[in-house]
Amino acid sequence: MASRVAVIGAGPGGLAQLHAFAEAGKNGAELPELVCFEKQSDWGGMWNYTWRTGVDEAGDPVHASMYRHLWSNGPKECLEFADYTFDEHFGKPIPSYPPREVLYDYLLGRARKNDIRKYIQFGTAVRWVSHNAEKNTFNVTVEDLKTGDHRTEEFDYVIVSTGHFSVPNMPDFPGFEQFPGRILHSHDFRDSREFAGQDLLIIGSSYSAEDLALQVKKYGANSVTISYRTAPMGFAWPEGITEVPLLTRLDGNTAHFADGSSRRVDTILLCTGYRHHFPFLENSLRLRTKNVLYPDNLYKGVFWVDNPNLMYLAMQDLYYTFTLFDAQAWYARDYVLGRVNLPSADQMREEIASWRAREEALSSMMEAVEFQADHLRDLLQNLDYPKFDVDMTVEHFRTWLGHKQEDITGYRNRGGFASPVTGTVSPALHTSWWEMLDDSPEAFLGESAGSAK
Ligand SMILES: Cc1cc2nc3c(=O)[nH]c(=O)nc-3n(C[C@H](O)[C@H](O)[C@H](O)COP(=O)(O)OP(=O)(O)OC[C@H]3O[C@@H](n4cnc5c(N)ncnc54)[C@H](O)[C@@H]3O)c2cc1C
Repeated sequence: MASRVAVIGAGPGGLAQLHAFAEAGKNGAELPELVCFEKQSDWGGMWNYTWRTGVDEAGDPVHASMYRHLWSNGPKECLEFADYTFDEHFGKPIPSYPPREVLYDYLLGRARKNDIRKYIQFGTAVRWVSHNAEKNTFNVTVEDLKTGDHRTEEFDYVIVSTGHFSVPNMPDFPGFEQFPGRILHSHDFRDSREFAGQDLLIIGSSYSAEDLALQVKKYGANSVTISYRTAPMGFAWPEGITEVPLLTRLDGNTAHFADGSSRRVDTILLCTGYRHHFPFLENSLRLRTKNVLYPDNLYKGVFWVDNPNLMYLAMQDLYYTFTLFDAQAWYARDYVLGRVNLPSADQMREEIASWRAREEALSSMMEAVEFQADHLRDLLQNLDYPKFDVDMTVEHFRTWLGHKQEDITGYRNRGGFASPVTGTVSPALHTSWWEMLDDSPEAFLGESAGSAK
């Protein structure tokens, strides 16, 4: 009997997994029975934008944290699928920092091409996964969200690709309870225009804080104060955005900071990160990690050391995204198909420990990029994934970081990034990103006059 594989989640990670199997199938491999459980009614995970916050239509916590006007914050060339290029999808060179809908379209372009939708059971939430030691199988209990019915199925392999940017870290500060305005986490942020005319306080100093500060200012916020815990981001912010040390307390609408300064704010936006959260996995199977580049207990960043028939995709802190997911998915597939053997648990632990030690010693963002590029290379060397120029993507990241230091509102205007697959060089954005309020695909691709949407 063919073995059974459960893939949990049909975001970019889960789709990469289904695609990897489909590719092997096209090349003659005998495939296991694949079932992908997706709790939402459509695919694309985080990229499947929703206006909803709080709970979704089924009463489950809303998965997505994407916001209306999100544009890629890194060059698209660093996430290009080696077997489905931007040239193939768009038929012409496009700028390097596409808005959300354009990247979503690209992601789905490949998924549609290989007809992998047939493997996905939508509106089906995985509620519990346990291991049956006697048979070395997994019991997966799912809920059909339309009927509320539960059922349990047996699988030989489970691949968890449920993402890790959905469950917010929620800090508390003195005075929050009496604050008369709105306090929200970036998970619930949807549309920058809601904050036009307001004075915002953003807490955090990572990507969400950086991007949301720019987004709300771009769409008309009066001022943005960013409060950092350890160090400021230090960009040359446009007028109206400033960085201050940690918030100490609120007095009504007045926020006080560690340097003794204070200011009046209307809304507080918590850009304080997310938790890895797997309420559907029994204790012995559950990954417990912070947002790091090489989580403990995952060999090659994928295989659960205590039982490698359980795999995790995309659980890393991410510089590389779609390409890294592909490499992980290809590896997981090859393990399931018996094409690669894994070493002993002790050897796996030793290898993980050496990556962990290296990560502990990293001291800059560029070193983190190089670390993840090495993880990617380590996976790719054993796979039949089509070749692409990883060294070139590392240089793209270096250029990107430099552009951000030069001009934080202008880096997305820049072209000149070569595809690591085809060599096609991206054009500059036709209009300044800072001025471009219409982020529709037509406006981005230069196919409409670009009226505000
Ligand atoms: C605000 C924001 C901006 C980002 N911007 C970028 C960017 O510009 N470029 C970039 O490359 N990446 C970006 N990312 C990273 C993004 O998370 C990845 O691109 C990608 O979506 C990760 O894919 P994934 O499949 O691991 O997870 P997700 O995309 O989160 O998909 C996980 C899927 O699992 C499903 N699921 C969860 N639990 C269950 C369950 N119990 N049962 C069934 N299904 C379940 C969910 O419904 C979802 O469809 C951003 C992330 C955020 C939050």
